[in-house]
Amino acid sequence: MDLTYAPEDREFRAATRRWLEANVPGDDLKTLAERKAWHRKLYEAGYVGMLWPREYGGWGATPMRQAIVQDEMARVSAPPPINGLGIGFIGPTIIVHGTEAQKQRYLKKMLTAEEIWCQLYSEPNAGSDLASLKTRVEDQGDHFLVNGQKIWTSSGPISDWGILLARTDPKLPKHRGITCVLLNMRQPGVEVRPLKQITGSSLFSEVFMTNARAEKSDLIGNINQGWEIAQTTLGFERGGNSLGRVTRYATAFNQLVKATKELKRGGRPLLEDPAVRARMGRIYADLEVQRYAALRVLSALQKGDAPGAASSITKLSYTEFEKRYYELALEILGPFGQLMVAREEFEEVDSSSGEPGTFATAFLWSRAGTIYSGSSEIQKNIIGERVLGLPKEVRADRLKV
Ligand SMILES: Cc1cc2nc3c(=O)[nH]c(=O)nc-3n(C[C@H](O)[C@H](O)[C@H](O)COP(=O)(O)OP(=O)(O)OC[C@H]3O[C@@H](n4cnc5c(N)ncnc54)[C@H](O)[C@@H]3O)c2cc1C
Repeated sequence: MDLTYAPEDREFRAATRRWLEANVPGDDLKTLAERKAWHRKLYEAGYVGMLWPREYGGWGATPMRQAIVQDEMARVSAPPPINGLGIGFIGPTIIVHGTEAQKQRYLKKMLTAEEIWCQLYSEPNAGSDLASLKTRVEDQGDHFLVNGQKIWTSSGPISDWGILLARTDPKLPKHRGITCVLLNMRQPGVEVRPLKQITGSSLFSEVFMTNARAEKSDLIGNINQGWEIAQTTLGFERGGNSLGRVTRYATAFNQLVKATKELKRGGRPLLEDPAVRARMGRIYADLEVQRYAALRVLSALQKGDAPGAASSITKLSYTEFEKRYYELALEILGPFGQLMVAREEFEEVDSSSGEPGTFATAFLWSRAGTIYSGSSEIQKNIIGERVLGLPKEVRADRLKV
């Protein structure tokens, strides 16, 4: 990716800045309807689905332009688009493995957030060891019957559709008997029970499927090909969306700078304290490293490379950074961290439970990043085994000490 701005890119930046300054909502977006309306506005301006192909509702833009939009959104602390799971990794999975009919049916409505999506992968006894999942999909001739339970389903309460992994053949080795289908969440056989988390709100849920129905036309790939499809989803999930996340950290950094200019210790703004400045400078450099890593991922995606096992490096890096980042912010802000807004909202909110988005909440949330999409330990295993080619198991009796 060429990181020098062409004159047209500079013009594009100026136009984006003008548009955002004229359109960014002045008040907090409190309800789902308000967030959908803002999302729609962003989409129509060409700022959502920028890299997606035009035939599926995207804008076929360059990674450079996507990066410019992310920068400009951070500059004015613009609320992010919604439907992050759909746009970030479920849609890209359908683009890789779906039929043309599936692409035409689902992708545009995903981009416009007319239909919100969730990911139905984890189960009570199948998180890190996802291949142990037990939810069943049975072939009923003209449709599939779905029975089982999922857990930690982000956006469950507000979702219209889900991408589901379920067992189709219990006799095959566990990675090989799994199938991927799209599930209509708005049907009597699907019950979503929100889970209350430590921050007080309910961004994810349990999902119970009792004789739920999935259409044959919603099978992704082939029967028992689900594990391969899950790897595509997880690759995009870990690596694909990192620039969006970095933008949110940058938004929070702007807020932190603002706060340290306003808050005073011994009559002087915190930002003038050399110890605070040094630590903020160091974390800013770290933030820039994350930004360039995200641009590298974007550039690879643009060239058509699917984010494979190496996306685990990106994921491990930015999620561990996020923990260091908000820990430092709380150290600097002290109790004010409970009052100061780091960014508008987190992830998807259901309309009744907005996340306040203070630095204190961001600190609590930063733990989540090192668990979802596979914990940091699992990312290290993947990097060791699949990126570096290290043996799966080191037997003590074979070690020469
Ligand atoms: C905020 C959030 C949102 C989520 N959203 C979704 C969602 O939308 N859809 C969905 O399907 N899932 C979702 N998840 C679930 C997530 O994918 C799982 O929590 C994750 O895979 C870990 O599984 P687990 O919770 O069962 O923990 P476990 O697998 O029980 O792990 C417990 C601990 O053991 C460690 N461990 C386990 N196995 C190994 C190993 N082989 N080597 C080394 N250490 C190991 C783990 O690192 C962890 O520290 C979400 C989770 C969070 C926190």
